[in-house]
Amino acid sequence: MSKLSLDRILQSQGFGSRKYCRELISDGEVSIAGEFVDDYKLTVETEGLVFRIFDEDWEYREHIYIALNKPANFECSRKPSHHPGVLTLLPEQFTWRDVQPVGRLDHDTTGMLLMSDDGPFIHAQSSPKRHIPKVYQATTAEPVTTELVNSLLSGVQLHDEPAPLAALWCRQLDTNQIEIVLEQGKYHQVKRMLAAAGNHCAALQRTAIGQLKLSSLNLQEGEWCYLSVEQMALLV
Ligand code: URA
Repeated sequence: MSKLSLDRILQSQGFGSRKYCRELISDGEVSIAGEFVDDYKLTVETEGLVFRIFDEDWEYREHIYIALNKPANFECSRKPSHHPGVLTLLPEQFTWRDVQPVGRLDHDTTGMLLMSDDGPFIHAQSSPKRHIPKVYQATTAEPVTTELVNSLLSGVQLHDEPAPLAALWCRQLDTNQIEIVLEQGKYHQVKRMLAAAGNHCAALQRTAIGQLKLSSLNLQEGEWCYLSVEQMALLV
């Protein structure tokens, strides 16, 4: 349980500077449980708090943990250069809260991308020490062969890696489609492993992180959702 003044609450939730949040409250833009609140000094219990601002309800969240179904042609970088950034797919307040992608997907890769403003969570989730499996579906330019699957399973040498990298799991899904599970997150890893194994990646989608499957989230491309405690527990 913790109480905070309303201006601090709005600021912490990404609605702008303290000064701006005070103005919003004084201007009557904020209501709680159907009552307008124009005293920005009012202290309010944050746990379970739902406030209404600009005709939209917001639940107080100390931190944000979301999954986005990333479409192609969006960049994960903080300073995107050729395509819009993934943050443009989220409410503006999330940028103020410094929500960031957890790891990166290439601009042309689609699928599950976690995003958060919780630094230790981002760090832990991206740490190579945790070996969290990431599942990808890759469409290949050339038909998938048994040799391709076997090479990916036994390990392929990438030119800037000291030792061959192997998939944790790999199987053919269709003539030109494989599922590949990796526990590392090296730069362009799936594409480079496919190239090193003599094929080419024509399209790539991340379908799961740990035990959390994209299909269980029912998100269209470009849509996102908050992750429940139960869903977070599957990210291992
Ligand atoms: N491997 C790649 O090659 N690209 C991605 O976006 C993710 C994994």
